[in-house]
Amino acid sequence: MRVNHHALELEQNYLFSEVAKRIRTFQANNPEKALLKLSIGDVTRPLAKIITDEMKAAAEDMSHAETFHGYGAEQGEPFLREAIAGYYTKRGIRVAPEDVFVSDGAKCDLGNLCDLFDADNTVLLPNPVYPVYYDTSIMAGRRVIFANGTKENSFLPMPDPAVQADIIYLCSPNNPTGAVYNKAQLAEWVAYAQQQHALILFDAAYESYIRDPALPHSIFEIDGAETCAVEINSLSKTAGFTGVRCGWTVVPRTLQFDGASLHSMWFRRMATKYNGTSYIIQRAAAVVFTGAGQQAVHADIDYYMENAAIIKAALNAVGIHSVGGENAPYVWMQCPGNADSWDYFDMLLNQYGIAGTPGAGFGSAGQGWLRFSAFGARETVTKASGILASL
Ligand code: PLP
Repeated sequence: MRVNHHALELEQNYLFSEVAKRIRTFQANNPEKALLKLSIGDVTRPLAKIITDEMKAAAEDMSHAETFHGYGAEQGEPFLREAIAGYYTKRGIRVAPEDVFVSDGAKCDLGNLCDLFDADNTVLLPNPVYPVYYDTSIMAGRRVIFANGTKENSFLPMPDPAVQADIIYLCSPNNPTGAVYNKAQLAEWVAYAQQQHALILFDAAYESYIRDPALPHSIFEIDGAETCAVEINSLSKTAGFTGVRCGWTVVPRTLQFDGASLHSMWFRRMATKYNGTSYIIQRAAAVVFTGAGQQAVHADIDYYMENAAIIKAALNAVGIHSVGGENAPYVWMQCPGNADSWDYFDMLLNQYGIAGTPGAGFGSAGQGWLRFSAFGARETVTKASGILASL
């Protein structure tokens, strides 16, 4: 038996495990000090009642022979796929229910999509980047190249037509930087993908945090994207589903690569290796797209975005440069005095009990930066911001 040697190429310390380890050490050494956790990439608000009520009703249905559900439709229940397609239509974006595949989350889809591509593809990743794109590409044995985010490009790297790439990952609003591409910038990426005959994997997991009405929520707002892009989304951050698990991927039937339909391939892959998202969860997910559901989830999104504004204001008050936080639940700050990300992380943690996430953990271009998440409780955010404003 031989193992996949590419899996051994991964760094053994997953970023978030290392951050958690250092936080545990801080707590063990400082039992009297409060921990102000702004490193959290998970939601903290409970599910909206309208969602849990629907889960209960769906669970009740499962206990009666007439309304019981066994295996569901491979692609997801039609009522949910229609609700998701309707969510796009409301914004004037044409997505057909037939092109929507329901899953148990964006991370799984991002990893599973790798099954469709040959190992001999060049992957272009933004740097810094959500580690899953990099790790899954490395595990699959693909060559990875980077487009660097910098202070000068506001962490919105643009394509270089001279660079050859086959698979391009984009994440907007971005984790970790909170930066969001505008329509003209996404149009440039679409044009580049078309010129390269490349595929864009567009991660829209944070689209519901966009405040500026001019910013695009979906790659399919860009003409031509239906011939070169797949979009991955999730209810994790939109509706607090991190522990519930429901996401979706839009694979347009217009996508043709190497003489094959990606839609057919993805359908086949899902039918082979996935037996569907829980019926109860799909019922709960469908509620999110109703008027009342949207109102409920946006109350929590507003709460998190107020947290982001509080953090951002504290940094502004002391002249610390940051990006993000206006259309995304992450604030990406430049460590003062060109400090190293991990050194600054350790200093904030050990001196003030504030935990961020070191930017260097998201890639070399994150060196010298730190990510703050807005997903904490208001009290924690206010206390930490008070300290940051006095640094
Ligand atoms: N994509 C991005 C950019 C994320 O930040 C996350 C979670 O942090 C995910 C995807 C994973 O989402 P899910 O919980 O749906 O797997």
